[in-house]
Amino acid sequence: ASEKEAALSATPSDAPTIFDKIISKEIPSTVVYEDDKVLAFRDITPQGPVHILLIPKVRDGLTGLSKAEVRHIDILGRLLYTAKLVAKQEGLDEGFRIVINDGPQGCQSVYHIHVHLIGGRQMNWPPG
Ligand code: ADP
Repeated sequence: ASEKEAALSATPSDAPTIFDKIISKEIPSTVVYEDDKVLAFRDITPQGPVHILLIPKVRDGLTGLSKAEVRHIDILGRLLYTAKLVAKQEGLDEGFRIVINDGPQGCQSVYHIHVHLIGGRQMNWPPG
């Protein structure tokens, strides 16, 4: 299925996601950055030469950005700041794209908030 089909068939929910198994290392991933709060790993279906997902290790109700509460402000800031660090680590000195898909219309398919960091090629605008 295409990413869009996967997103449209995904039901927004609080159920565990595949990212729990990536955090627990039950499912292998290529980790590029890790600290006590954030895990960053390579997307399995890269949309550019560099495509990394940054996720909070503890979801705490943050299935997507639309579910953000005041208590999530720190982790939201950390995700973006870490994206900048990882962009530097990946050598994306000419720029990069940050994406947070939300809900069916936003093409979200995994309900554990994640920041896409995509780079290494010229991006287009508007996005599809
Ligand atoms: P979309 O599937 O439309 O990109 P999301 O924004 O929810 O929606 O992104 C989920 C991302 O998770 C996708 O880019 C997908 O390739 C990635 N992904 C799914 N499973 C894995 C996995 N096991 N390892 C790495 N990335 C994964």
